[in-house]
Amino acid sequence: MGPRSRLARLRASDRRHAWKPFTAMSAYLDSEPLVFESARGHYLRDASGRRYFDGVSSIWCNLQGHRVGEIDAAIRAQMSKVAHVTMLGPTHPGAIDLAEALVRIAPRGRAPQGKPLPPARKRLTRVFFSDDGSTAVEVALKMAFQFWKQRRPARPRKERFLCFSDAYHGDTLGAVSVGGIGRFHAVFGPLLFKSHKVPMATCYRCPLGKRFPSCKIACLDEAERILERHADRIAAVVLEPKVHGAAGMIIQPEGYIRRVRAMCDRHDVLLIADEVATGFGRTGRMFACDLEGVRPDLLCLAKGLTGGYLPLAATLATEEIFEAFLGPPESGRMFTHGHTYGGNPLGCAAALANLRRLRAKRIVEGVDAKGKALERALAPLASHPNVGDIRRAGLMCGIELVSDRATRRPFPPAERPAHRVADAALRRGLWIRPLGDVVILMPPLTVTPREIAWLGRVVREAVEEVLP
Ligand SMILES: *Cc1c(COP(=O)(O)O)cnc(C)c1O
Repeated sequence: MGPRSRLARLRASDRRHAWKPFTAMSAYLDSEPLVFESARGHYLRDASGRRYFDGVSSIWCNLQGHRVGEIDAAIRAQMSKVAHVTMLGPTHPGAIDLAEALVRIAPRGRAPQGKPLPPARKRLTRVFFSDDGSTAVEVALKMAFQFWKQRRPARPRKERFLCFSDAYHGDTLGAVSVGGIGRFHAVFGPLLFKSHKVPMATCYRCPLGKRFPSCKIACLDEAERILERHADRIAAVVLEPKVHGAAGMIIQPEGYIRRVRAMCDRHDVLLIADEVATGFGRTGRMFACDLEGVRPDLLCLAKGLTGGYLPLAATLATEEIFEAFLGPPESGRMFTHGHTYGGNPLGCAAALANLRRLRAKRIVEGVDAKGKALERALAPLASHPNVGDIRRAGLMCGIELVSDRATRRPFPPAERPAHRVADAALRRGLWIRPLGDVVILMPPLTVTPREIAWLGRVVREAVEEVLP
């Protein structure tokens, strides 16, 4: 069977049985989906042999390309020992070493001027493994909730969460309850717990009509007011630091994370940082919290943890939170939560190799310069009449398309301009996946200067083809 007829057979079978995530299936069934079969470096290859640049890092998780020698070898070596053992009771060397490695790189925070460093029990020293970003967030929410009931003195009324209007924290019901992307989740409203929602910083469409920095981040004033009034009922603030990714790469102004941390401190509320997307160098620092010297109380990690190889997630907690769960077994103070494959040894081996290589090749240190190069490569687009905003943090980049630049009016939903741009890019060998009207570019951190120049050119051509 030739590659063409093989591809046709695969697609026919897919059409009969597939039900895809976040996919309008009617349109999908009429489409000819990509069937990626192999990859090397920054390129994916489909079943007919065509090559595509992985422009969104296989949905934001691939950091160093595909088939990285060191990571492949680490997984193979682990496979020759054991593929899976449970973390319910026992443990294994990979989980032990990875927990230590994560604690070593976890954000430490910077003491505000003139103030002493936070005590050691406020450092992120405990690691709870699960398997996905959503589960890392569920774990953090439940830990925060249970913490206040068991802490001495207990604050059992602190049961709510403060979160941001268009945040995305995953698709399990707890994560959806603290998220707010209407077009993803509106239908599940009746299943969700109530939370305090405040608008996120959307500088391009500031609802207050202000500008940074003279605004003094006034969009956080409402959060401050809610905390002033309700902090005795609030367990934690949940934040995607620096970048609200799924909302369309919405970027927070400088000082935002620090101010959220200060608010949490002032009102005795925990800070949960969801760094599932921003973690492991994406924003130019190991973690986005490091951009502003902020130490969260709970840190959620997934996507890039294994370099985009295997599902593995971790929730880091401070020693202070962990202590509230200590006590004799009959006290019932344990954290009653766990996932069968959490802390899987193959995933841990991949993660350790990923972290080792990030450090050895100083990859995170190079992200800032590469991000700036990407911005320069896209700069000619800035004057296009349908390009409203080009925003970027490190190697997370969004290009928002609008029907009218002056009024920033969006396109009618049926026009799907970003989808059409992605299709035009695909014809040129670049695979990207848009979000609403935002063209997303999120190449692997190891993207080369030549590839960056090519990316810029292809995206420009694609936009100009779709919106001449
Ligand atoms: C992707 C993402 C999640 C969910 O992770 P899954 O592994 O898809 O469950 C949570 N939070 C953020 C910020 C994300 O980008």
